[in-house]
Amino acid sequence: MTIDVHGNSVLVASVIEIYRAPGVDQALRDFRLPEQLGFGLVCAPVMFTSEFRQGGWQRGELIPYGSIQIPPGARALHYAEVVFEGLKAYCVGQSTPSLFRPRENWLRMVRSAARLAMPELPESLFMAAIESVTVACRSLIPSKSGQALYLRPFMFGTEPGYHVRPSSSARFMVIANPSEVYQTQPLRVRIERREARACTGGLGEAKTGANYAASLRAATRAMRDGYSVSLWLDAATHSRVQELSGMNVFAVVDDELWTPELDGAILPGITRDSLLRIAQDQGMVVRERPLLIAELLAKITNHECTEVFACGTAAIVSPISVLADDESEYVPPRVDDVAARLRERLLSIQERRAPDPFGWVHVLTNSI
Ligand SMILES: *Cc1c(COP(=O)(O)O)cnc(C)c1O
Repeated sequence: MTIDVHGNSVLVASVIEIYRAPGVDQALRDFRLPEQLGFGLVCAPVMFTSEFRQGGWQRGELIPYGSIQIPPGARALHYAEVVFEGLKAYCVGQSTPSLFRPRENWLRMVRSAARLAMPELPESLFMAAIESVTVACRSLIPSKSGQALYLRPFMFGTEPGYHVRPSSSARFMVIANPSEVYQTQPLRVRIERREARACTGGLGEAKTGANYAASLRAATRAMRDGYSVSLWLDAATHSRVQELSGMNVFAVVDDELWTPELDGAILPGITRDSLLRIAQDQGMVVRERPLLIAELLAKITNHECTEVFACGTAAIVSPISVLADDESEYVPPRVDDVAARLRERLLSIQERRAPDPFGWVHVLTNSI
């Protein structure tokens, strides 16, 4: 690792060798970036793939984006052996792309895979995969503030069979999407009082498809009723706030920043962690604590809680304009005040518009 003139660490491209398929250059040449990007709607023309078999990872390959073949009996399709990650490559007003805290994504993917008894992914393979896709797609990383190349690393069990034991083979892939910010409107949140998404001891800490599957019915109902997303409570007592289906939550209470403590059922978001550090750096008192839903709603009502917001890589920081319970709606007095401040600080570091005192930004060289 070397350090560039801005003090950012530079990841000098992959230490492992990657096969670049013949069609890759043509696919890149043929690709046109559409005007409207949305989030995850546009697929980059190349992807990375590597297979795990007989106890080892095979050579990584950069190949044109396209459908893949897996056996219909693959355990991923039946027993949900799937883990994934999400991170962004930024190239706003810069000639070289950068990644934000990519090692945290690798560490989390390893932890998620361990929870599902899936193979361990070497750091070198993970980094080589995201670096090679990012560098190959360099010219299609959108360059307006808020835009980025969203990278989606994922791993799934490919061995067919119904025996309840871990798949002996797996595939690790990275696909990418030139994207805008996921969510721009303030969120209208429905408190989910009946169903549960994740429990302590279960899969909540793992970034895995099953947690999303568990959230879909309530989310669909919430959307039907005019809300954007569900707020999940703990599975055992339905009294403690967990998070949204794919974002962590924060509340501003008496000028302090509160967020539910990681209890084993909450996904440890990298944006969550970054915001806690930034808020502290800005002199705010931050508290990771159990947050009772009754307490939160009471504090919104008496205006001790002035603001609520959500965060994640895709949406960065999303203000919440209303929390809806079965009978009533709770409206925090402020929307996007502290949230806007934190978002701008985070985004300015991510986009290299501001100094990075935390050592979070990893600049890529063009050498793959
Ligand atoms: C990915 C994810 C988040 C956000 O994590 P980041 O690392 O900040 O992107 C929050 N909750 C869930 C359930 C997630 O899957």
